[in-house]
Amino acid sequence: MPVSRTLSIIKPDATRRNLTGAINAAIEEAGLRIVGQKRIRLTRAQAEAFYAVHKERPFFADLVAFMSSGPVVVQVLEGEDAVARNRTVMGATDPAKAAPGTIRARFGESIEANSVHGSDSPENAAGEISFFFSSDEITG
Ligand code: ATP
Ligand code: MG
Repeated sequence: MPVSRTLSIIKPDATRRNLTGAINAAIEEAGLRIVGQKRIRLTRAQAEAFYAVHKERPFFADLVAFMSSGPVVVQVLEGEDAVARNRTVMGATDPAKAAPGTIRARFGESIEANSVHGSDSPENAAGEISFFFSSDEITG
């Protein structure tokens, strides 16, 4: 399986509780390398653009407010089958339904404040990585 990349975001509920290091340890223990990383505060416009696919969903306004409510850590992860590998270590969207030991089961507060984002396909990963990173900010 060739090496590939995915986009991860450590969400505001997790940065607020000082969980960046614990989440990064879980990511690295899952066999992924953090090859790009920065801590930023999303504007409302950036959060709306990033989650545009969900703009008709009832939770969209709340999600945009939440994602711009505090700092996030955006990350490029690299490894074999990076998208699926990261989705496995993240766990299900709803922390109450996430498998034991996953990041969302351990740290998620609610279906919205679920601590991490991960791209859901290689195609979306490429678009999401270029949304936040220029090529000179990623070093494998
Ligand atoms: P993400 O895209 O953040 O990795 P996901 O792919 O597991 O999560 P999506 O269906 O893409 O889930 O939803 C995007 C985000 O919207 C979720 O991570 C969560 O923060 C929020 N969300 C999803 N469903 C709900 C809901 N029913 N109520 C409130 N917020 C929700
Ligand atoms: Mg998603």
